[in-house]
Amino acid sequence: RAKTEGRGILRFFDEGMDRQLSMRHSMEHDLRMAASRSELHLLYQPLACLETGGIIGFEALLRWTHPVHGSVSPAEFVPLAEDTGVITVIGEWVLRKACQEAARWKQPLKIAVNLSPAQFGTDQIVDIVKQILDETGLDPGRLDLEITEGLLIKNPERALPILNQLRALGVRIVMDDFGTGYSSLSYFRTFPFDKVKIDQTFVRDLTESRVALAIVKAIIGLGKGLGLSIIAEGVETVEQMELLLAEGCHKIQGYLVSPPQPIGHFEWLVLDPLSSGHPCHGRCDAC
Ligand code: C2E
Ligand code: MG
Ligand code: MG
Ligand code: MG
Repeated sequence: RAKTEGRGILRFFDEGMDRQLSMRHSMEHDLRMAASRSELHLLYQPLACLETGGIIGFEALLRWTHPVHGSVSPAEFVPLAEDTGVITVIGEWVLRKACQEAARWKQPLKIAVNLSPAQFGTDQIVDIVKQILDETGLDPGRLDLEITEGLLIKNPERALPILNQLRALGVRIVMDDFGTGYSSLSYFRTFPFDKVKIDQTFVRDLTESRVALAIVKAIIGLGKGLGLSIIAEGVETVEQMELLLAEGCHKIQGYLVSPPQPIGHFEWLVLDPLSSGHPCHGRCDAC
């Protein structure tokens, strides 16, 4: 009896796996078509500077509206796009779209774009960034490229020269989600970062956890010591913001300022040359 039961469970499990697999295959196919079918779009989340009280730029965040499944989160489809290699096509689309958008703004605000480790598979990324900057006329100093530790772990030998070449174009490199996974302090010795983003899991626990607070303090201290710009992600409450300010972190991103929104939501800011953007227009060293 146990045997039959076992087989039954196994068969059930197999069918489940099959369904999952075929779902994966069809999503994979759909994802390949997504860019050409205009199912992808970008949302923009502002980064605020608490010192000056202005918006200093935006992070571009990808969204996919699937014809059947509706809105699919990047947490779900970016890993799939990475596994299948579609990320190189989608990543280029994101970069071009975000740079085109930012080039249209009447204020020199920053635009941050997330890059996947898979986009560093070839040296092509440097040519792609260069071409898109030329094509759109965007000042390279306004483009921030966000990378995660995944890149530095998987392919440190490839990553270093590519990051150096990207920086030579005049763009800035941001270490995203710092403090999670296998983030290592030695990355700061090896890789040329300009900015660090404190991962939102620490910010979330800031007011309840002394450990989270200690880690945030350590990251801020490290960033300052190295002359890096520090940005706290996922700031949702005034209490979190005040703690960050007290520790000397002035740049924040999170629902407290605004959730990611279609750019139309911010037209009043980005298209008005006289609106109260960042007083230094993003040109000060701290930005
Ligand atoms: P990320 O780069 O760390 O982006 C920040 C994420 O935190 C975004 O999630 C944003 O919506 C969310 N967030 C912002 N403020 C708050 C807050 O106050 N509270 C909470 N709970 N969450 C907040 P999203 O848009 O779902 O993106 C998730 C991740 O997907 C991103 O994390 C990034 O790693 C990846 N991703 C997004 N767009 C792209 C893209 O164009 N290319 C690549 N390669 N990855 C992308
Ligand atoms: Mg990011
Ligand atoms: Mg992040
Ligand atoms: Mg994240």
